[in-house]
Amino acid sequence: MKLKPTVKDWIRPALYQTTAYPFVDPGQAIKLDAMENPYTWDAEITEQWLDSLRTVALNRYPDAKAREIKQQLRATLQIPDAMAMILGNGSDELIQMLLLAFNGPQRVVLVPEPSFIMYRILAQVVGMEYVGIPLQAEQFELNKAAFLTAIAVHRPALIFLAYPNNPTGNCFNLADIEAIIEATPGIVVLDEAYAPFSEETWMPRLGEYPNVLITRTVSKLGLAGLRLGVLVGSGDWLEHIEKTRQPYNVNVLSQLTATFALQRYALFENQIQRIKIDRALLWEQLNALPTVTVWPSQTNFILFRVPQSPKVFEALKAHGVLVKCVHGRHPLLEDCLQVTVGTPAENQTFLESLTQII
Ligand SMILES: *Cc1c(COP(=O)(O)O)cnc(C)c1O
Repeated sequence: MKLKPTVKDWIRPALYQTTAYPFVDPGQAIKLDAMENPYTWDAEITEQWLDSLRTVALNRYPDAKAREIKQQLRATLQIPDAMAMILGNGSDELIQMLLLAFNGPQRVVLVPEPSFIMYRILAQVVGMEYVGIPLQAEQFELNKAAFLTAIAVHRPALIFLAYPNNPTGNCFNLADIEAIIEATPGIVVLDEAYAPFSEETWMPRLGEYPNVLITRTVSKLGLAGLRLGVLVGSGDWLEHIEKTRQPYNVNVLSQLTATFALQRYALFENQIQRIKIDRALLWEQLNALPTVTVWPSQTNFILFRVPQSPKVFEALKAHGVLVKCVHGRHPLLEDCLQVTVGTPAENQTFLESLTQII
């Protein structure tokens, strides 16, 4: 009798061994685990948005060139005129496109660690060799010497630098980034997912080095449900990376909604201002707690260390507050939790629960 083929025999070994991106079901908990903006739109804006949706031709494919949304993104994100754009169904998809475009035998992607885990997961998905270089302990700065050595050894096709970094919340030292850009034979992608909450951006400097690309997303800004990211850089590179994009990858509803939303960017600016003020408050209050260590943040989350963090995480969940437990992900993140800045009321509930628990 012929044996049935087994899953293990046929799923690509590297993929078989990988674990998928971890999700925790929030249930009814206060959701401070996913770096989402807690604010929505008022009734008037929502009505205008619903009105605008009436014009959508759902029977047609989206505009192949996505002209309106690209024009709006260029204006809002101050993308230099000389630079090209590729849209992604979230910047996660852009990371995947980059890996697909640069993958090949002996091709390496180099990433500081700890950083955004999708770099590793997607490298495994496309079958590209991934090398992680530990950040420096405590301040989470790049280890420049180790990075430059790794560049000489691996000659990486791609380097991903999240700027600011997730989950550490900091922007790496600029001189270190410049040294890496100058030393690497390949491309450096600056992932600026948290740009709205940071004082730093490479955007106006894009023309300085031909081997730098930037990704941005509307997710952390307050539109995580839309799934829209943009890759920005020289057309010489993007022309070819574009070939890995599925035609019509960003649907009409996302394109129209993002255009509508970004035309009203002041709305988000107000929310971001609020979140940054609350970030400072939350930071001070966390820092005042005994046994808690807090790191500075240029993002909409705060990384902190508390003894027995997995237990604290579970206890917070039992109190109805969901944060992210990053303990166990990397030695430098021992006993660390990551909390998204929520509304003042949510932050207060989180702090009161944490105070009781510890
Ligand atoms: C959240 C996040 C992303 C993913 O963004 P999407 O556009 O939602 O896919 C990318 N990079 C970093 C560093 C992030 O934290």
